[in-house]
Amino acid sequence: MPLEVLEQAAAEMSDWHGCGMGVMEMSHRGKEFNSICVQAEADLRELLAVPPNFKVLFMQGGGLAENAIVPLNLSQGGTVDVVVTGSWSEKSFKEIGKYGTPHLVASNAASQFTRLPEPTQWQLSPDAQYLHICSNETIHGVEFHELPDIKALGSGAPLVMDFSSNVLSRSVDWSRVGLAFGGAQKNIGPAGVTLVVVREDLLGHALKACPSAFNYQTVADNGSMYNTPPTYSIYMAGLTFQWLKRQGGVAEMERRNIAKAALLYDCIDRSSFYNNPVAANCRSRMNVPFFLADASRNDAFLAGAKAAGLLQLKGHQSVGGMRASLYNAMPIDGVRALVEYLREFERTQA
Ligand SMILES: *Cc1c(COP(=O)(O)O)cnc(C)c1O
Repeated sequence: MPLEVLEQAAAEMSDWHGCGMGVMEMSHRGKEFNSICVQAEADLRELLAVPPNFKVLFMQGGGLAENAIVPLNLSQGGTVDVVVTGSWSEKSFKEIGKYGTPHLVASNAASQFTRLPEPTQWQLSPDAQYLHICSNETIHGVEFHELPDIKALGSGAPLVMDFSSNVLSRSVDWSRVGLAFGGAQKNIGPAGVTLVVVREDLLGHALKACPSAFNYQTVADNGSMYNTPPTYSIYMAGLTFQWLKRQGGVAEMERRNIAKAALLYDCIDRSSFYNNPVAANCRSRMNVPFFLADASRNDAFLAGAKAAGLLQLKGHQSVGGMRASLYNAMPIDGVRALVEYLREFERTQA
């Protein structure tokens, strides 16, 4: 989280804008919270240049719930194309199977998820209801640097993307997207709110079994207030959107994220002490997994990092090693400090 955002939230915790109550105490249908929600949506639309024929929904359940909510709304019980590029899209593939028939279009499992399958080689089905990708694989550190133009590849299906971990870190080409979803807790704000941006023509086809609170049409018709939305998380997300606008918006964030990632990958690549196995053309700007050549030094590495004020560097349990997440709120000075520590640790261990 940007420090400015945390400090503003702290200052407004018990009395928002002099109204005598904190955001947590407001009715979600009152004029105060309504103004917070309307502003958050407007700012998000501006930041991501969301076209007018897309709805912005604030939902609950996180990215994993969307793995079910999307097929409940879009699959019509039919075929869903899925590109498996790491742990998250693998989870999506499995969940889709409860509501429709997932079809594996391509997978890079054979490369241990260190490269992206080339779109021209994808085995698209002729009758898919949609095609699912994960735009940034948070655990394996693999990112699409260009969204696939699946229409040009011969698919008539809308593209659905899980952008939980790179939302707002770069611009989105909405002409290639039918629906994008993401949990807030990686790059927006506290856990609790899930963002869904969906093209209007995809609404209204939900399976009968779809819970009303998860029916996109119902949520859209009620301005994300069919059920009580996660009000405090929406407020915090709104503060982050305002902060992003003050920084210069998504274009400026993308510029900074490119610089931050380059600094860290360059340091790793110059050393034989550390390594990142991901192919250069699909390395994530947000999540940089890296491994010490000698894994027996992992604990010493993490202890030294902690002592230097560098936290949360332990890699995901499923892949081990280390992982540095360079989300929007991480300043370049934080990356510089990490790089300095990497060099220093290598020097003292050599
Ligand atoms: C974290 C993450 C999720 C899961 O989010 P939850 O809020 O825990 O359900 C899904 N997809 C991606 C890409 C993620 O990084």
